[in-house]
Amino acid sequence: MHLEGTILHGRDFEPIEGRVVVENGRVEAVERTETESTDVVCPAFVNAHTHIGDSVAKEAGAGLSLDDLVAPPDGLKHRLLRAASREEMVAAMRRSLRFMQATGTAACVEFREGGVPGVETFAAAREGIDVDAVVLGRETEDAMHASDGFGASGARDGDFAAVRGATREAGKLFGIHAGERDADDVDAAIDLAPDFLVHMVHATDDQIERVADSELPVAVCPRSNLVTNVGVPPIRRLAERTTVALGTDNVMLNSPSMFREMEFAAKLSDVSAETVLRMATVDGADLAGLDCGVVEAGAPAKLLVLDGDSDNLGGAKDPVRAVVRRAGQADVKRVVL
Ligand SMILES: [Zn+2]
Repeated sequence: MHLEGTILHGRDFEPIEGRVVVENGRVEAVERTETESTDVVCPAFVNAHTHIGDSVAKEAGAGLSLDDLVAPPDGLKHRLLRAASREEMVAAMRRSLRFMQATGTAACVEFREGGVPGVETFAAAREGIDVDAVVLGRETEDAMHASDGFGASGARDGDFAAVRGATREAGKLFGIHAGERDADDVDAAIDLAPDFLVHMVHATDDQIERVADSELPVAVCPRSNLVTNVGVPPIRRLAERTTVALGTDNVMLNSPSMFREMEFAAKLSDVSAETVLRMATVDGADLAGLDCGVVEAGAPAKLLVLDGDSDNLGGAKDPVRAVVRRAGQADVKRVVL
């Protein structure tokens, strides 16, 4: 298979006119050559933080505080999840995953509520869908053993030391929310030596220093933070010191579209379009230990082809800026996963 057009090549997304040669699911070569194609070929996205389980609760709870919305165990989200049948859960999650695939997402890092049954429900929803998922179980140690690791709510919600240790022993990923509504739970979260943090909206300079010292990646979710009215994450300060990846967080609050998340991240912060595209692709892959997120020879062929001559994108002077700040589902021509 050959894909032609403007190729956003490597970790720097250098625009190259040419073709991507794909064989056996891998990029065999990226060749510079003249082409008639106005397509833009970029890596498919990695959504570094999702709660797809709350697809049954879209747009519920307008105006509620963060705690009333999502805090365990009795926030609105958790009550709606408990009230939904397994069939409703599977069907709703499946639709979200299909939407993610259609909008160019190759993989997501999913915090999956509901213990072991929650992990199994997610697996059922993902059957036949090509979006890879790193699933982090929640609530019980068994959920960690049944999945790819453990996704903790936040250091103020309980003592996670034991499950953190068990997750390390199992050689799995441990992620934790931190600094979402204030800075009080950040140091305790870092003390757990997690594999990554989520949010860090209120991180202090000292805490960002600690993150840099331990090379701790951070998943930021700016749209979620706007919906819950907790502030705007310090994307530039974090990105200067560590790996920052982009996530869409709760489907309850936001559509899991990486196009929308990139646009918000780019326009709310003063980092380059290349940095934002890295956050939406290879940095998310690095955070979760996945091998994807770049277009280069030898990489898995997880690719997104956009119509660079759509009415939306046609004539754009800077293809990376156009993808990050302007592109959307209507510009998607093909998703190769
Ligand atoms: Zn979250």
